[in-house]
Amino acid sequence: MSDLQPKLLYVLSGALVAGLIWMLVDAWRGYRVRSWLRHGDLAIAPQMSGWWGVLLDRARKLLRDRERSIDAGEQRLKDFLSAIQSSPNGVVMLDALAQIEWCNQTAATHLGIHPERDVMQRVGNLLRDPVFTAYMAVEQPIEPVVIPGHRHRIERPVHISVQRHRYGEGKQLLLTRDVTMLEQAEAMRRDFVANVSHEIRTPLTVLSGFVETIQTLSLTEEEQKHYLSLMATQAHRMQVLVEDLLTLSRLEGSPVPSVLQSLPIAGLMDACEQEARGLSASLAQGNVAHHIHFVIEPSLRDCLLLGEARELQSALSNLVSNAVRYTPAGGDVHVSVDHGIDGSLLIEVRDSGAGIAAEHLPRLTERFYRVDRSRSRESGGTGLGLAIVKHVMQRHGGTLSITSELGQGSCFKLIFPSKRWRQAA
Ligand code: ADP
Repeated sequence: MSDLQPKLLYVLSGALVAGLIWMLVDAWRGYRVRSWLRHGDLAIAPQMSGWWGVLLDRARKLLRDRERSIDAGEQRLKDFLSAIQSSPNGVVMLDALAQIEWCNQTAATHLGIHPERDVMQRVGNLLRDPVFTAYMAVEQPIEPVVIPGHRHRIERPVHISVQRHRYGEGKQLLLTRDVTMLEQAEAMRRDFVANVSHEIRTPLTVLSGFVETIQTLSLTEEEQKHYLSLMATQAHRMQVLVEDLLTLSRLEGSPVPSVLQSLPIAGLMDACEQEARGLSASLAQGNVAHHIHFVIEPSLRDCLLLGEARELQSALSNLVSNAVRYTPAGGDVHVSVDHGIDGSLLIEVRDSGAGIAAEHLPRLTERFYRVDRSRSRESGGTGLGLAIVKHVMQRHGGTLSITSELGQGSCFKLIFPSKRWRQAA
């Protein structure tokens, strides 16, 4: 018994020391797990066995899942923002105090705000346009407003449409859109309708005046003939105008002419020469007619223009008619066909008329643009001739070039690319 007691004591104290060491080691492992959990960095996760190991594996898995779902969420947000970034429309997100939370680059360009520097700035402090200020003051606006864009200049207008929507808790979304082209098209449409109405009203007024005169006054046969011929002139004017309008609408609405259709250049030149001589004779009225020359470079005599015959005929005919109408009797009208650079084909219509001042040249092909309105009308012009020529050339992949000097005459060139002409087989 006395032998047993020290042995038991020895075993017990050994177990106590072992238990203490185990507790210390366990506490140390617990401390490592706790400090790792604080940072939660998967890359430096401690490796352990036993219960702590099981616990660590579980925690590691949960952390990995959470990281994955955060990454996926971030990726979704990035995709969403880059989709809004690439939108042609501008987007500005405002908080409940109308401060900018985020905007895409398009909105920044439209409104002149900075996507980073202006974050948390009140939008009303950055955009001072009175129309925009009034729009932001409306509680529930229905229609968008149009304000001048950041890059708006008198000579180069930029119009931006802004629409506001409410979302979330008092937050707002501003959607912006560049409507400059739309507004220009709308203005052009309005001008066009006004011009057409005006052009038709003038001969109509004259016509109805003559009808009234014939109805109310007892006229001699001679006088009646005179009035009827004046009425025929006005009716003809309206007819030409309607024909030109129909030509323009046909040009705008039909597909690009095929290169399988063709028109012999010699035939085109002959037809236009006859027209020019007829017009010159009718305008000269006893005066000496114009000196008219039509010349084709010999190697091009048999060539063909590829495209819609009626359109090509109308383009050259308009240029030749202008050359005769705007050149005084006795002047020169010279039409030539020649090789251009890069294998193109040139048809040049040159006259020795009054010429055109430089400031008018860029606008000549606009519909109803005339340098001298009364002169154009007197000689039967509609103001649509050069617009038709420009359209025809665009549809055939070619260009119309105009050079002129006041008092020196004018030169109109039709330039056809190589794919729009060929030698006859
Ligand atoms: P219009 O029917 O009035 O002639 P166009 O569109 O053919 O209409 O021409 C537009 C304007 O360009 C004319 O009104 C005229 O002022 C000017 N113009 C055109 N061709 C000539 C030319 N050969 N010489 C001088 N002015 C011209």
